[in-house]
Amino acid sequence: MCGIVGIIGAGDVSIPIYYALYALQHRGQESAGITTFDGKTLFKHKGPGLVAEVFDEDILHELKGFSGLGHVRYPTTGEKIAENIQPFTFRFMGRFCAIAHNGNLTNTEKLREEFEKRGQIFSTTTDTEVIGNVIADELRKSGRMEDAVLACMKRLEGSYSVVFLSEDKVYAFRDPLGIRPLCIGKTKDGYIVCSESVAVDALNGTLIRDVRPGELVCISKKGLESVQIAESSGHAHCVFEYIYFARADSVIDGRLVYDVRRKIGQALYLEAPVKADLVSPVPDSGIAHATGYSESSGIPYREGLIKNRYMGRTFIMPTQEDRENAVRIKLNPVKGHIKDKSIVIVDDSIVRGTTSKRIINILKDAGAEEVHMRVGSPPIKAPCYLGVDMPTREELIASGKSNEEVKEGIDATSLHHVSVESLIDAIGMPADDLCLGCLTGVYPLWIKGEKACPRYTDFIKGSYQTNIKEFDE
Ligand code: AMP
Repeated sequence: MCGIVGIIGAGDVSIPIYYALYALQHRGQESAGITTFDGKTLFKHKGPGLVAEVFDEDILHELKGFSGLGHVRYPTTGEKIAENIQPFTFRFMGRFCAIAHNGNLTNTEKLREEFEKRGQIFSTTTDTEVIGNVIADELRKSGRMEDAVLACMKRLEGSYSVVFLSEDKVYAFRDPLGIRPLCIGKTKDGYIVCSESVAVDALNGTLIRDVRPGELVCISKKGLESVQIAESSGHAHCVFEYIYFARADSVIDGRLVYDVRRKIGQALYLEAPVKADLVSPVPDSGIAHATGYSESSGIPYREGLIKNRYMGRTFIMPTQEDRENAVRIKLNPVKGHIKDKSIVIVDDSIVRGTTSKRIINILKDAGAEEVHMRVGSPPIKAPCYLGVDMPTREELIASGKSNEEVKEGIDATSLHHVSVESLIDAIGMPADDLCLGCLTGVYPLWIKGEKACPRYTDFIKGSYQTNIKEFDE
């Protein structure tokens, strides 16, 4: 998973991009990069680590220019090498360009091979560079970005929210299924396109709307322009963004993530009521779900675990042993809240089961009498091919196991996952507009060896040339 941003401003945009990336840090902690253009030259700086580690004030002041892109990376494809850090920059037909991407293509190999057969040289191992090539290939023929994005939508399979800098313009487009989020905001003196609305908030801007699936937008000094390039018979917004990945204060496709999680929490009680002394979240990822559970059950909300806020997420630790130890350092039980109590503990999801088992044992060691585990996602049974780093079926604790077996595996007194129906209800979109691949094993597009229910036929709109002008300042 990654976070992307593109900004057009009246003055230098490096500091606004920095703060936008800061707000999107949860989407990727492995590397960060910023590219800007000042009318003559392209400036860039990128490196491994967190946003605050990669940039300092001096570096940001050297990144001059009124247009630019930013990226934070959590790798799902491509190796962990310096060349793979985005944004990628290049010169094409005399213009300075840059690209940054969130998502995961499922036909990278095929496209790459095709380009390599034609003599194209690649300098990274990412799918993003393939997208850059599809764009350049089409720009070479027609010179129009609309045609280049149409070519992307015809040829790319998988998920892609993309920002593309062409000197003084920033283009942004989202795959026709709208799998990954992308939104547009107005800032004091320009525009921002970014993965989540929290980045608009960070700049004290106003969220205008989401980029529509299949839409191409362009922000420049002229304002905001939009073209609907492709339309699909249904969408496939990723449910995991709502469950876990996005920040709770983001609004994605019109839904406040916090409220979706709260509704999931309410459903968790209604689906499997239990008597308990307190409801505690697994901080921070289970907080919103736990408040909902407390609301519908009337069981007091009280934190049974306090998180050390100066640690990264455990899943960025390289080995299983490191991950297991990290949980102990990360969470400390509030013994006075726990001893001799029956506790409902709420988390967003169980992936490998390591975290839940550790947490339940920490609570039991601190004297809890009963620990009822409630989970804000249905059992995760299948991998994600579309941008979330999920392990294989073998590593997923719920894959091929019954609820009872998983309960035993994590040492819980009882275990309940929210149902797929309640999850869909909480998000408030038709099931046909959601990607439920990791929960059902049925994907919204064809993936080798998997079942699919594609919504991808006949999606190309003939009249894509019609420009819908939204703003003109
Ligand atoms: P575990 O079951 O030990 O793999 O950890 C699951 C916890 O890690 C969840 O409660 C989430 O907070 C977090 N998590 C969610 N999704 C992922 C993911 N794709 N990769 C790693 N950790 C995740």
